[in-house]
Amino acid sequence: MKIFIDPGHGGKDPGAVGSGLQEKDIVLPLALSLVEKLKNYECETKLSRDKDVYVSLSDRAMAANAWGANLFFSIHVNAFATPEPNGYEDYTYPSVGVATQNIRKAIHLHIAKVWTAVSRMNRGMKTKNLQVLRETAMPAVLVENGFISNPQDAALLKQAAFQNKLVDAMVAGIAEALNLKHKDSIEEQLRKELTKTQQEASRLRDKLAQIKEIVSS
Ligand SMILES: [Zn+2]
Repeated sequence: MKIFIDPGHGGKDPGAVGSGLQEKDIVLPLALSLVEKLKNYECETKLSRDKDVYVSLSDRAMAANAWGANLFFSIHVNAFATPEPNGYEDYTYPSVGVATQNIRKAIHLHIAKVWTAVSRMNRGMKTKNLQVLRETAMPAVLVENGFISNPQDAALLKQAAFQNKLVDAMVAGIAEALNLKHKDSIEEQLRKELTKTQQEASRLRDKLAQIKEIVSS
């Protein structure tokens, strides 16, 4: 499985700005942490940017398409003109099929739970004609993690512990959505198979010894 991770904005494009924060600076560490944590799973990852640089929306989509990604996962933070709106929402392109709907639902349930656990809104599963969702050839989900324009959301987004929970939820959602195997469970499986093979080898050795005894007698 190939997961293309897209931290929004960057470089000359700060994204949403508010509460002393810039969206581009919040989403990048989340994306980098997501890449690290996904190393525990059977999958490959690629980033649209791994530093504070500008990448156009069409270049992001093209990079994912050229790589042959199985999932395009775009990380954003919301903003509004007034401070009240808060919480989490995510987006797919309006006319996606059931496969993408199911992937998004798995991701949504995990991430929304982190926000509602701290009394922030679950604003739901939404659709929008966004360029990166429209121009990507694979299932694509864009997550809007809180409102930089809401003081409580902004305070949460500044906390390392909350960032960590968000990334863990992204990992859990993506792993469930794509049925990724945890590397520990693969190792465990191999250990079981090895034990079984050793037992079988031991049984065959005994059998061989018996046969030799019969032949020599
Ligand atoms: Zn954004």
